[in-house]
Amino acid sequence: MRILILGGGFGGLFAALRLAQFPWEPASRPEIRLIDRSDRFLFSPLLYELVTDELQAWEIAPPLRNCWQARALLFNRQRSPIWMWTSSRLSWKIKPF
Ligand SMILES: Cc1cc2nc3c(=O)[nH]c(=O)nc-3n(C[C@H](O)[C@H](O)[C@H](O)COP(=O)(O)OP(=O)(O)OC[C@H]3O[C@@H](n4cnc5c(N)ncnc54)[C@H](O)[C@@H]3O)c2cc1C
Repeated sequence: MRILILGGGFGGLFAALRLAQFPWEPASRPEIRLIDRSDRFLFSPLLYELVTDELQAWEIAPPLRNCWQARALLFNRQRSPIWMWTSSRLSWKIKPF
């Protein structure tokens, strides 16, 4: 099984993390792939502190890859993929940035 999550913001990242932590049977552990046009996670509630110079950009937008342990998730920096419906089968093509 493959799980594709579009958008590595609050909703997407935390859904991906929760799915990666789920106690899957080894044989049924899915490939979980997160896609985002940015390679950083923006903690938007702290945008005010950035504007007021209390915090630096790197403090409120860490690299997405640093938000999970290695190999738990696959990540592609990519605008939303190209979707292809072929005979009731959904597939996607990932064009690197
Ligand atoms: C200044 C500010 C302060 C806030 N403070 C709070 C707060 O204190 N508490 C609170 O609960 N909420 C707060 N919010 C709201 C909170 O940020 C949003 O509710 C939350 O981010 C929504 O999560 P999301 O995953 O739906 O979208 P987002 O977090 O916006 O994530 C969407 C992701 O999708 C990616 N994306 C979009 N289009 C594409 C595309 N075509 N291809 C690939 N990737 C794409 C974006 O790069 C982004 O990473 C605040 C918002 C702002 C702007």
